[in-house]
Amino acid sequence: MFTQAQQESVKALETPFYYYDMALLAETLDRAKAAADKRNFHVHYALKANLNDRVLALIQSKGYGADCVSGNEVQKSIDTGFSPSQITFAGVGKSDKEIILALQQGIFAFNVESIQEMEIINELAAGLGVRANVSLRINPNVDAHTHHYITTGLDDNKFGVPTSELERAASVIRQASHVDLIGLHFHIGSQITDLNVFKSLCVKVNEWKNWFEERGTAIKVLNVGGGLGVDYQHPDENAIPDFEAYFDIFDRFLERSAQQEVHFELGRALVAQCGSLVSKVLYTKSGIKKNFLILDAGMTELMRPALYQAYHKIERVDANTSAEEKLYDVVGPICESSDCFGKEVPLPASERGDLVAIRTAGAYGEVMASRYNLRDEIRYVFSDQF
Ligand SMILES: *Cc1c(COP(=O)(O)O)cnc(C)c1O
Repeated sequence: MFTQAQQESVKALETPFYYYDMALLAETLDRAKAAADKRNFHVHYALKANLNDRVLALIQSKGYGADCVSGNEVQKSIDTGFSPSQITFAGVGKSDKEIILALQQGIFAFNVESIQEMEIINELAAGLGVRANVSLRINPNVDAHTHHYITTGLDDNKFGVPTSELERAASVIRQASHVDLIGLHFHIGSQITDLNVFKSLCVKVNEWKNWFEERGTAIKVLNVGGGLGVDYQHPDENAIPDFEAYFDIFDRFLERSAQQEVHFELGRALVAQCGSLVSKVLYTKSGIKKNFLILDAGMTELMRPALYQAYHKIERVDANTSAEEKLYDVVGPICESSDCFGKEVPLPASERGDLVAIRTAGAYGEVMASRYNLRDEIRYVFSDQF
């Protein structure tokens, strides 16, 4: 991951910190953009995956839109330079204050997740004397075949309007004086690696688009969400996801007219591989059954393993990797048993002071950092700084 020369500089830095490979990020963004542009697809970047200032500024500069899930994310997008006309706002629990902010900023569209929310947006828009563009988020009951904590499109998930309610939703929209339905929105989960799942999604999108059109409602935007997965096992071999194959599925299976726009909301696939969490071994400990590596990073810096048993590849950063391999439980310093980055991880025999990198941490990493145990503010460095 680091050249020999870089390793020396890295060793001098205070750990733990996030390391962002800006060249890889730029290349990933260029490839995804080219694959989308070729098919006239629009991509909104899902800010919640990573909103580090420099990462976000680069994404903005590459011509992506912004997909937000809070009022503060809407504000952050605007502050970063995204035009309001490129901003969408999703989420099951938008507060009145957040809705008002987004209305005042004149964002492109709200992705509306319930009938009641639609009524509230209509009321608040009327109060401000503005109109709101909305896309209706439909829960299509498609199994994303991913971890149940990051599955969002099944009947028992809290997201979107269930299809049994669409008749009523359509009638509420027709009667709403300050709301314009521009599109349908779907987002069925995250870290989806089986592209057939997206094929199934296309079938559902076609079905519901036709349903609305048959009832005389024109649909301008088909928003199919995000969710494309990355290779957590092989961050170097598969550093950039296969965006061509991904967009190709939608190109082939999504039925649409020339006037209809197709929108995507990618988060993880754009930023996951460019980030690593670099940490130092504080202590080694041999238990009755286990060898432990105790790091200076914990779930407070990277929560995914504790939150949803996520796998991250763990490597030694320094070159001296000819040492005999051992199996380690790699754990953090936080007072929680779930504060563990990996069990029985094969690593060269390691000592206090050795550096490890926890790979593929650019998405849902730094953004989820917390001050639990009154930990230091998270640190980060960029590849072009040394
Ligand atoms: C989180 C989220 C995304 C991004 O998901 P990824 O799996 O990171 O691509 C897109 N749309 C919505 C509505 C989301 O909540």
